[in-house]
Amino acid sequence: MQQIQSAGLLKSASFIDGQWCESENQFDVVNPFDNHLLCRVADAGQKEAESAVIAAKKALKEWAAKSAAERAEILRNWFDLIQDNQSLLGRLLTLEQGKPLAEAEGEVGYGAGFIEWFAEEGKRVYGDTIPGPAQDKRIVVIKQPVGVVAAITPWNFPNAMIARKAAAALAAGCTFVVKPAAETPLSALALAELAQRAGIPAGVFNVVVGKDSSSIGRVFTQHPDVAKFTFTGSTQVGKMLAEQCAADLKRVSLELGGNAPFIVFEDADIDAAVEGAIQCKYRNAGQTCVCANRLLVQSSIKDVFEEKYIAAVQALKAGNGLEEGVDLGPLISQKALEKVDELVQSARQEGATVRLGGEKQGSSQFYPATVISDVDTKMKIAQSEIFGPVSPIISFTSEQDAIRIANDTEYGLAAYFYARDIGRVWRVAEQLAYGMVGINEGIVSNVAAPFGGVKHSGYGREGSKYGLDDYLDIKYLCFSGLNT
Ligand code: NAP
Repeated sequence: MQQIQSAGLLKSASFIDGQWCESENQFDVVNPFDNHLLCRVADAGQKEAESAVIAAKKALKEWAAKSAAERAEILRNWFDLIQDNQSLLGRLLTLEQGKPLAEAEGEVGYGAGFIEWFAEEGKRVYGDTIPGPAQDKRIVVIKQPVGVVAAITPWNFPNAMIARKAAAALAAGCTFVVKPAAETPLSALALAELAQRAGIPAGVFNVVVGKDSSSIGRVFTQHPDVAKFTFTGSTQVGKMLAEQCAADLKRVSLELGGNAPFIVFEDADIDAAVEGAIQCKYRNAGQTCVCANRLLVQSSIKDVFEEKYIAAVQALKAGNGLEEGVDLGPLISQKALEKVDELVQSARQEGATVRLGGEKQGSSQFYPATVISDVDTKMKIAQSEIFGPVSPIISFTSEQDAIRIANDTEYGLAAYFYARDIGRVWRVAEQLAYGMVGINEGIVSNVAAPFGGVKHSGYGREGSKYGLDDYLDIKYLCFSGLNT
């Protein structure tokens, strides 16, 4: 912490209009590994949220008027500074969130990657010319920034969920205000410090940190100066915030919960499937929206898969994320741990077999890596987003059976399957009702690919060439009277 502080990356107040803003009250940020106090942070609310929106509106005209190349140069500075401080930002992230340091540093690099990507992509906001309907008419299409963007982000990726949104918004010429989760405000504030050093003008990137998410959320969804609202978090909260935006018809994009199936067919490379499933399921202790939530394994290979999978899960080491060789950190809170345990116990009561783990360890915030076999698709654990290090295994008999079970959920974010038969690969990929499908791959997210879901997992895409669309308005110019 000392090193982070000396580098000027430990900030404890909201960043609004280029200033660090103290508030009347403060709240605690703790390390989920041992609940040790890391920092007390100024507790902003409605007033500060309004100031941030007003600052973003004030800064909009000048930022939008810059050329894409000018914005790219500033964003590139931000990217460079984040990369230069990757190791300290990673430590800060592990301290407030709990994930292993290698994962935390990976997240910082991944988040920075979006800033680099969109800095360049912003130069390619092309319009169109369209043949007109009459001799003296021309149709021209241009794209313009939507305006002030307000964002709310979760604690499971405290750096990357902000970088991914802000990068696209700023590259498109929008200004930005974000409220990170109260559990993990420090990574967001460190990003603001580096944004300022990078030369991002006052008011273009603002961070409001506070416990009263509902008041801050109301400002972000209802303030007349906000043109677009973007949210990453739970489906329940996302739906409510989308409703709040409806009165003003604000543009909305939502990255919500998931219930990812991870299907292993009998023609799969089983060792590769085990490795992919471990990465997919146990990254961030299972607290990711795209992590495997249900393992669907063809009955003919169930025994051999389970044996190899359990051995691989047993080898995972839990501990302090700052220590070398740790694979699994703590869960974010005691409440999160209780929810995971409740799902495991309900599966047990409904007749599933706990093959590994499955019991809380005293008052520790670690949940043991757990594998549950003989799970039925109707069980609560198969229908809920677990958000913990628990693998429920469901067996299936045929390809159609697997697709039916995989799609039997209200969610539609990510799905995965392992198979070698090329016909099956195409059939299954096309029939899975998900926004993203990993084929012989357990990690699908990268800057070049469109990240997002369907059904109750939300709408809008982040990353890729499509990621700018959410921050741009299309304007059609009708030229007429051109004949002499
Ligand atoms: P959450 O409760 O929805 O919280 C997410 C954010 O919303 C936090 O900043 C939270 O602030 C804020 N929030 C909560 N209630 C609010 C309200 N009434 N008004 C305004 N803001 C409010 O979700 P979570 O449990 O922290 O995060 C896990 C969820 O996020 C999972 O469902 C996961 O799948 C989803 N997720 C999705 C993606 C994706 O890209 N699709 C990525 C990561 C996570 P406070 O915490 O400060 O109250």
